Amino acid sequence: MGYQKETNCVQAGYKPGNGEPRVLPIYQSTTYKYNSADHLGKLFDLEVDGHMYSRISNPTVAAVEEKISVLENGVGALCTSSGQAANLLAIVNITSVGQNFVCLSSIYGGTINLFAVTLKKLGIEVRFITPEMSEEEVEALFDENTRLVFGETIANPALDVLDIEKYANLAHSHGIPLVVDNTFATPILCNPIKFGADIVVHSTTKYMDGHATVLGGAIVDSGNFNWENGKFPELCEPDESYHGVVYTKNFGKAAYITKARVQLMRDFGSSPNAMGAFILNMGLETLHLRMERHCSNALTVAEYLEQSDKISWVKYPALKTSKDYELCKKYLPNGASGVISFGIKGGREAAVRFMDSLKLAAIVVHVADARTSVLHPASTTHRQLTDAQLEAAGISADLIRMSIGIENVKDIIEDIEQALDKA
Ligand SMILES: *Cc1c(COP(=O)(O)O)cnc(C)c1O
Repeated sequence: MGYQKETNCVQAGYKPGNGEPRVLPIYQSTTYKYNSADHLGKLFDLEVDGHMYSRISNPTVAAVEEKISVLENGVGALCTSSGQAANLLAIVNITSVGQNFVCLSSIYGGTINLFAVTLKKLGIEVRFITPEMSEEEVEALFDENTRLVFGETIANPALDVLDIEKYANLAHSHGIPLVVDNTFATPILCNPIKFGADIVVHSTTKYMDGHATVLGGAIVDSGNFNWENGKFPELCEPDESYHGVVYTKNFGKAAYITKARVQLMRDFGSSPNAMGAFILNMGLETLHLRMERHCSNALTVAEYLEQSDKISWVKYPALKTSKDYELCKKYLPNGASGVISFGIKGGREAAVRFMDSLKLAAIVVHVADARTSVLHPASTTHRQLTDAQLEAAGISADLIRMSIGIENVKDIIEDIEQALDKA
């Protein structure tokens, strides 16, 4: 405890003992050895700490989980095989058939599919808050079966900034937690838990890994939510699959994250692997430095685009002209990540010509790694969405999403300039 974020990026998590490897070892083992059957029995009954099987935990992964938990001010974290798996487990950990949750409509398209299509099939209903809704209309979304509120700190790709305090208060007024996907902001730019979020989720595939090498996700538990209000029997009543363990009793503040691991990760098996966790840890060691450059480059590019007569609009929360500038100053005082969006005059065709003319910036589906990249969501990542869903997600047909990398910003702008000339 006590170190600054930058130090924790480098140092938190793995703590070698005397004569042990300085660098986090890759424990490439699915299984662990015990001196007695009795000890293994106690592990299975959750009576002692330790590793049992790498579907549930692994020492390399555990070190990275500890680092992420420290960075987000949590009491514990669970790494998953992808961001999708993190969101799935985070929701299903406290919802079941017949229940519902409330969600901001401008979120990642993959998460919308998960919530609106697949969770619906499991009998869990998502209810979207759209920007035009009044307070009364938002209140009307809640009933006795509502179990959480969900939003993204910086929405992908709409780039709306979430008023975390407001939605934490809304959730808490209904006795339910706020779950925040903090993928774009990363713990470097924002700690949602400090503003009242109860659970934080990440796609570590983005800035945390930062080099577009390993898929991964994480769930962080703030330990702050009081589950014993009658709404969450799954955390407060005996779990028959563990001889009647009661998570809130046996694990206290870490009830939610322990259940997610020992019950859901055990049953769903969306586990990360040691090699991937090692690579993620290397990414995390430079996260603070990379975010600084992503943010300053993105602001420079956004300001350049704003004054260009070939651009019809630019969206980046840190622009003084942004509708979310005040929210950005409050929640993202050190920058709004490397992702910007804009529309080119000439619509869809000009957008395609622009993208095809870029030389440095590559057309990829991914965002948030060291290399500058570009994408047209309406024809790619979000093509499953209807026009109405697109609009609700804050995406227009001409929207180009650009993920500004950590190259020299002069080269990035030169590339954009020559491509705009050809558009
Ligand atoms: C990419 C992304 C996800 C999904 O993560 P994967 O690692 O691709 O499964 C979830 N939420 C946000 C905000 C994302 O950007």
